[in-house]
Amino acid sequence: MSRLYEFDTLKVQGGYNSAEHNHAVSVPIYQTAAFTLGDSYRADRLFSFSESDPIYTRLSNPTVDVLEKRLSQLHGAAAAIALASGMAAVSYSLLNAAGKGGRILSSARLYGGSLDAYSSLFPDIGLEVDIVENPDDISEFERGIKENTRAIFIESLSNPFATIPDIEKIAAVAHRAGILLIVDNTLATPYLLNPFDYGADIVVYSATKGLTGHGNVIAGVVLESGKFDYGNGNYEHFLQPLWFLRDADDRERSILDVFPNEPFTGRLRALHLNYLGAALSPFDAYLVLLGLETLSERVAKQVANAKAVIEYLEQNEHVSWVRHPYAKDNPYKALADKYFPKGAGAVVSFGFKGTEEQKRKFLAATKVFSYQANIGDARSLIINPTETTHVELTHKQRKLTGLSTDTIRLSLGLESPKDLIADLQQAFEVAFS
Ligand SMILES: *Cc1c(COP(=O)(O)O)cnc(C)c1O
Repeated sequence: MSRLYEFDTLKVQGGYNSAEHNHAVSVPIYQTAAFTLGDSYRADRLFSFSESDPIYTRLSNPTVDVLEKRLSQLHGAAAAIALASGMAAVSYSLLNAAGKGGRILSSARLYGGSLDAYSSLFPDIGLEVDIVENPDDISEFERGIKENTRAIFIESLSNPFATIPDIEKIAAVAHRAGILLIVDNTLATPYLLNPFDYGADIVVYSATKGLTGHGNVIAGVVLESGKFDYGNGNYEHFLQPLWFLRDADDRERSILDVFPNEPFTGRLRALHLNYLGAALSPFDAYLVLLGLETLSERVAKQVANAKAVIEYLEQNEHVSWVRHPYAKDNPYKALADKYFPKGAGAVVSFGFKGTEEQKRKFLAATKVFSYQANIGDARSLIINPTETTHVELTHKQRKLTGLSTDTIRLSLGLESPKDLIADLQQAFEVAFS
């Protein structure tokens, strides 16, 4: 139903045909590990990829399948694959793009976990990552591409400062080199931005955050545009014949032979999901589907709450700076106007002007804002990132991301803006009493 309907219709109904599920109105939870194979002739067809019904829930499941189809339609993507966490989505995508001996070129402004994996884990498995220290300088991306670089990785809206990369220009750099642009669109959600509109080849999400928005599930997603040419000479690992992909006559086939329209997610499912195993459970897929139904309404309200809180913070004497494209003199205003006409997200950071002790008192005093390491929840959240979410960052990485110890990060939820502002006000009063 993708071409016929608008985003808000697809987020509620896309990818699901109740007639195929006993006319159930709500997407059923197929809580089963395996599926009967029928006769051995059908089993042959299933195991040679000529038929694609579910076999085993690690590889696919009808509940998860509806989520994947719905997300594909919301992005106009060729295919999607749901995974057990956002970190699985990030690391599987990078491994899949790089293949054996490939490198990744990545922005320095990233989720702390992604950045730390570059130095702490990926070299163990042969994946080397080069860092673009100033992603606002497009020529740094150009200069950073080496002969064996296989993808550029960026976040469309960074955490905690909501900086915005010029996606279209970075996509052009990637495509001139014949390599993939992978965009982590977690903070933006597809309601605010569809990175495929600006040249992204692969989009990844932590669905744990705003995409689901309930704060009740850990999940991840990888989507592919279906437009990238994997036969361009840089992706030998998609062309290599593999025994396990053989046809009924025992002829070996490549990923591109078996999954011509969705090679990236096809390979990711056949190898990374299959052998590294971070499968999303059917129940968790159901929870993500429930969250998606209200995506636009939630994010629109969160963006409005962010604007109200930014205005309050900007006139507060205990606030030394506010960073968000909607804050005064923010350098990302023009890019926000281009890429985020519906709003530049609901993660807002500010500088706390006071002692370390007063900052701790302030954090302990909020009652509506919940002190926790998450974002994109229906509840409003508050945290001191340097000591918590971004604790992995070295001093150099901190400097690159501009993270100082006075930083306080807010993720605006769905509460009344009046109560949110009053809560911050009373916490400032406690801290400075
Ligand atoms: C949270 C987050 C991740 C990791 O996702 P999990 O679901 O926690 O594994 C990756 N990227 C970004 C931008 C995130 O905010």
